Amino acid sequence: MCIVSAETFLLWKEKQILKGGDDKSLSLLIDSVGGLSKKDLNLLKIKSETNIRLNTDLDLLESFWDKHLKFSTPIQYLSGISYWRDLKLEVSCNVLIPRPETELIVDIVSKIFKNKAENITFVDLGTGSGAISIALALANPKWNGIATDINKNALEIASRNFTNNSNQSNLKFYNGNWWDPLKNFKRKIDLAVANPPYIPRNIYKELPIEVRNFEPKNALLGGEDGLDHIKKIIQNAPSYLKEKGFLLIENHFDQSTKVKHLFIENRFTNVEILKDLSGIERFTIGRYK
Ligand code: GLN
Repeated sequence: MCIVSAETFLLWKEKQILKGGDDKSLSLLIDSVGGLSKKDLNLLKIKSETNIRLNTDLDLLESFWDKHLKFSTPIQYLSGISYWRDLKLEVSCNVLIPRPETELIVDIVSKIFKNKAENITFVDLGTGSGAISIALALANPKWNGIATDINKNALEIASRNFTNNSNQSNLKFYNGNWWDPLKNFKRKIDLAVANPPYIPRNIYKELPIEVRNFEPKNALLGGEDGLDHIKKIIQNAPSYLKEKGFLLIENHFDQSTKVKHLFIENRFTNVEILKDLSGIERFTIGRYK
């Protein structure tokens, strides 16, 4: 805990931004490490005579900022926290920082299943920090959710995130590759969602340093054309989905047509391509027969 005058704090902030970086990242650091939200920050400019309370002292905040500027370490990995939808999630280098475009998966699912009282069994394949599965479980307390991940460390983070964001018990965590840990759920799944690694190799090489040097490669790289994991998920889906069960997959901006064909080749019907909020063809959805 540290108390500083608003004036000292605003001068400190000014000094940090003059070193480099962008205001959004600095505000995120001040929020997630210092405990001062963007809204509180804006109020300070109006009431600059007040004192403010921070979770850490300015030197520690500054050392994090310097590290971010020097090594391009994402703020979320420095603070160990990522905000996604209305969730505050623990993250580490074992999990991808959940992306804003992925937030839409929850809205798409809500539109499909308007009747929330239905007993739905859903699975989030490769859950990472647990973002998608936790949001779906919280929005639909009557549903039974399953989250899988190949990385045990990721699964521990996801499970902690669920406990810390709710007191519900409708989400279970299974360790293994894609569908592999779900042998007891054959033909029992109503809905499967996944944000698998889908970046093609040549694009991965060109990703910004803050992604390439810090985020888990196995959560991003989808082989030569980016479709390795998407193919596996679609090909194995028929063994696990109920008749008319849904599969919803996030994909790269230029993969939708190929992904749609993979769905159709594997006997999916009602296959649709959906855009994200930037107008990019980001999701492919279909029903098994
Ligand atoms: N959307 C992420 C990115 O562009 C990739 C996520 C993924 O491969 N699943 O960095």
